[in-house]
Amino acid sequence: DTADSGAPTIFDKIIAKEIPSTIVYEDEKVLAFRDINPQAPVHVLIIPKIRDGLTQLGKAELRHADILGHLLFAAKLVAEKEGIVDGFRVVINNGAEACQSVYHLHLHVIGGRQLKWPPG
Ligand code: 5GP
Repeated sequence: DTADSGAPTIFDKIIAKEIPSTIVYEDEKVLAFRDINPQAPVHVLIIPKIRDGLTQLGKAELRHADILGHLLFAAKLVAEKEGIVDGFRVVINNGAEACQSVYHLHLHVIGGRQLKWPPG
């Protein structure tokens, strides 16, 4: 989808394990799994297990600060686990103009090749 309707997303089904994913990290608050359409040798998505209104970063409120920090720390753990901790990128696409397609907040952890900057 290209708009934030607040409706459940495919990620709810991934959290519920109703559709399969390749999980690379999980704790009580977040789930990290491989992107189905990887843009680099390592491309992992990290999501909060409870969306709690966080359809996109632009909807964040102060009460979300803990989970936002937890997601970012999980990105570092995933980068270590994937062997890319010395060179990786963390991306959040926010809204249609940034090509957000799933309205359940997620971090992209990308690496395993030389990345370009600016990304375009
Ligand atoms: P966005 O464009 O919203 O920042 O990123 C959404 C990402 O979710 C895309 O990179 C897309 O490939 C990924 N994605 C969409 N559906 C699925 C799915 O069913 N499984 C997995 N593993 N990734 C998905």
